[in-house]
Amino acid sequence: PVRVRFAPSPTGPLHIGGVRTALFNYLFAKKHNGIFYVRIEDTDQNRFVEGAEAYIFESLKWLGITPDETVGVNEKFGPYRQSERKDLYKQFVDQLIDAGKAYYAFDTADALNSYRAKAESEGTTFIYNWENRETFDTSLNLSKEALDVRLTNGDPFVIRFKMYDATTDAPTIEATDLIRGNVSFKRALLDDKVLFKQDGLPTYHLANIVDDHLMETSHVIRGEEWLPSLPLHIALYDAFKWDAPEFAHLPLIMKPVGKGKLSKRDGDKLGFPVFPLDWKTADSFSMGYREQGYFPEAVVNFLALLGWNDGTDKELFTLEELIQSFDISRVHKSGAKFDPEKNKWFNHQYLQTQSDAAIAKLYLPIVTNYKADATLDYVAKVVTLVKERANFITDLWDLSDYFFVSPNEYDAKASKKQWKEQTPDIMKELVQVLYGIPDFSSQNTETIVKTWLQDKGYGFGQVMPPFRLALVGAMKGPHIFDISELLGKQETISRLEKAIT
Ligand code: GLU
Repeated sequence: PVRVRFAPSPTGPLHIGGVRTALFNYLFAKKHNGIFYVRIEDTDQNRFVEGAEAYIFESLKWLGITPDETVGVNEKFGPYRQSERKDLYKQFVDQLIDAGKAYYAFDTADALNSYRAKAESEGTTFIYNWENRETFDTSLNLSKEALDVRLTNGDPFVIRFKMYDATTDAPTIEATDLIRGNVSFKRALLDDKVLFKQDGLPTYHLANIVDDHLMETSHVIRGEEWLPSLPLHIALYDAFKWDAPEFAHLPLIMKPVGKGKLSKRDGDKLGFPVFPLDWKTADSFSMGYREQGYFPEAVVNFLALLGWNDGTDKELFTLEELIQSFDISRVHKSGAKFDPEKNKWFNHQYLQTQSDAAIAKLYLPIVTNYKADATLDYVAKVVTLVKERANFITDLWDLSDYFFVSPNEYDAKASKKQWKEQTPDIMKELVQVLYGIPDFSSQNTETIVKTWLQDKGYGFGQVMPPFRLALVGAMKGPHIFDISELLGKQETISRLEKAIT
């Protein structure tokens, strides 16, 4: 059975790459009627950030990516927080030591630094591995008794993995990645990674493998930045004599312009996090997709296309449709370009699928915030006229403020061009014509105004632009008679009179 996981480390706000990983795991699980679980990898105490875990869960909730199992939810293989599993890892690292696959290393930080400095001065990089491990201060050079003495003495140590043993190990590690196909790594080039630290906690690598095994993970789907760790992980499964899960490494997310990977710094400009880490106290307009006015459905949609498509030109998907169409073998190897402008387009598309009443409900608080009184019904009618140009609910005010407040100033450039000497007189006449119209519907008003205009021999340009300036304050907006219908006869006339004086 399919069991996949999202295994974030709570080290800060959840960024787009992390959310994409969560989404792809979720889609894969749902597609195969499997389980999607979330495991919190919080064994690195130095990188722990208060509130980050709650943030991760809040983000997933907002996006509708619901874990089947996690902290506090169906804890079948719990606990789901690694810090609460810490007593469990030592026995596994002991197994590796007994099997001769791991060893104690007592090198001090100073000693390691001086090796590094020496290598650097020789123009090379220090690497702790099969070629030199015998020269270090490790249990490989100690009798069992001597080791026991040092351990009882409390000498600081770490436990390292014996990545390569030239006498027993094959020179390469081969693996199949569901996205990349066959990948192979030379063991001799890899280092002896630390599996366990003095503080009694495992490193990411050990805890990750032990938990993926104990929690019966069938597939590991994660970002490409973890590909270099794959040989170590496979070697660890081998050393434990466990079956390894299947692996899929998702393509990097690239900068919108130029070369390279999207970084947190680009993120600050692009609204990279789902929402800010201090979202509980931050003001609601600080950066974050949610604060910028993205619909979670639109975020899910654009994330799904970061490295995947269904083989057609289709771009708009609901979560349900994504589950139906998702196919891990269709995920690309090459980096996926992050396109903030296109992301807005997704939000635009999603916004257009909403009913005017639903949009109005979201827009009403903004209208009221500007101290404009309006009924939901009126707001919905405004929405009908302007929504086509909006990407976000927050765009609506700029597109429609004049429906709620009469213009107090008129666009200077447009006034100069459109408001001529004879304009006040023509507008006065127009007011008289409007007074006489009983049915102020768009079509009827348009017919009557146009007839009057023709009878009088006025040009279109003498009447319509000043009329629009009077109602809107600028040369923007939808069909002018749609505007006058919605404003109503009284308001239309009063705006004209205000403009004339
Ligand atoms: N805790 C790791 C992270 O922060 C998990 C990587 C993996 O999926 O193996 O991304």
